[in-house]
Amino acid sequence: MSSPADFPYDGPRAAFASLTGSPLWSLPIDAVVAAFVARGWTHRGGKRVPTPYGLGPEVHAFDIPQADGSLRPFIWIPSYGDILGEETQSATTLRRVFWILWKAGVEAAIVGGNSGVCDPRPHSDPASIQPGDLVLPWSYRTHQEHRGLPGTPYAAPWPRHNLFLDAPFCPALAAQLLPLAQAYEAKGTLRKVHTPETVRAALVQVETVTFETDFDVLMWRAINKTISDMEPGKPPVATLHGDCLNPLLARFLGIHLLYYHLVCNYAQGLGTGEIHETLTGLFLDAYPAMTIDIEGKLAETLTLPHDDPACRCRASLMENPPVFAEAMSGCR
Ligand SMILES: [Zn+2]
Repeated sequence: MSSPADFPYDGPRAAFASLTGSPLWSLPIDAVVAAFVARGWTHRGGKRVPTPYGLGPEVHAFDIPQADGSLRPFIWIPSYGDILGEETQSATTLRRVFWILWKAGVEAAIVGGNSGVCDPRPHSDPASIQPGDLVLPWSYRTHQEHRGLPGTPYAAPWPRHNLFLDAPFCPALAAQLLPLAQAYEAKGTLRKVHTPETVRAALVQVETVTFETDFDVLMWRAINKTISDMEPGKPPVATLHGDCLNPLLARFLGIHLLYYHLVCNYAQGLGTGEIHETLTGLFLDAYPAMTIDIEGKLAETLTLPHDDPACRCRASLMENPPVFAEAMSGCR
């Protein structure tokens, strides 16, 4: 019986990947593949990949022509690796997806998500985050599902390493997405583009299986308002509800994470309009073509950061003195 570390991987390999999901939910998987092929990419197939944690999601492999005549391998895992009929973004789902990314040799992952927003600023403030906006987030709240890969060297950082979670979203990669998003802001497809320099947006993964309650969101609104008032010299804090991956595992595995959020509704109990209508309308009408275009351009042109001091993606896993491990049961 092989361990998760040496379980055979028979999926494709690539340095670049996308896990983007709900911004593409109005397109069936085959339609997304066809849209990428229409850009001149070659589809090398897609199938569900076995993992040590159970049968994983579909992994689609592409070859992307480059300006110098070479081909860039690229993989797309639909909808963050979620599988129809299974609980979304469970620890099992996250393990399967990141085991695949690890074995595939992925160095940079693009992830686009949709979310509701809880911004303590009034809606009348045009600087506040509103439906129709794109946000490059600043941080995230850790969640009980954000664990490691059991049975592998990435099961848990301690005691062998310290793993720091500052700057979880690669600023060097975000800088490459920014002009693509700003072009859609100029065209009016996006109302506004937000960066960590203008608002400190944090991802909050919902703790239940659906939307939050009125109380949940009021609690976050109070927290966000309090922090913003505590630190008037810094950008205000808002939360985006419904994150779609495990940023901790990306950092643990040394994968640069390019994360963007399309805001599709006010969080439960906030703002005007019905969540279902605003969410579904933006999903169906505004986002799919833009998302395919932005993701396509990123996949074709993204470059890995080298020696960028703002990028902490591969510098925050620090080895501890070996004696720390000798203090723990199971060391002998
Ligand atoms: Zn990075």
